[in-house]
Amino acid sequence: MLVEDEPRVAGFIAKGLREQAYAVDVARDGEEALYYAAVNQYDLVILDVMLPVKDGYAVCRELRSSGFRIPILMLTARDAVDDRVAGLDCGADDYLTKPFDFKELLARLRALSRRTAQPSRGRYQRQQPKHQSH
Ligand code: CA
Repeated sequence: MLVEDEPRVAGFIAKGLREQAYAVDVARDGEEALYYAAVNQYDLVILDVMLPVKDGYAVCRELRSSGFRIPILMLTARDAVDDRVAGLDCGADDYLTKPFDFKELLARLRALSRRTAQPSRGRYQRQQPKHQSH
């Protein structure tokens, strides 16, 4: 899922991703993003910070607090350390500063997908006590 309110930017990213054989849904604001995430299954979320209704940080926090574990890549507009820290603190896995090179976006998506492909999904799993069997 791509969350971006600027039609030109959203169109550019979605087109590029579709050319790489990604299926893309575009959400235009924070509430729409949360709705889509509730009704669809995604492998990855590209989340712009500057969004109407609810900004990217709020969306990210809500997703994470509801147990949503899919990788989130934040798009930050400014190259400010505070923005990047805020993004990572709210539960994003990675960030990219606008304007970015599309090749870098693709490389980061591939890296995030590799992480998701692992069966444990990065979840800490306690060893089962011996008397429990499945
Ligand atoms: Ca935006």
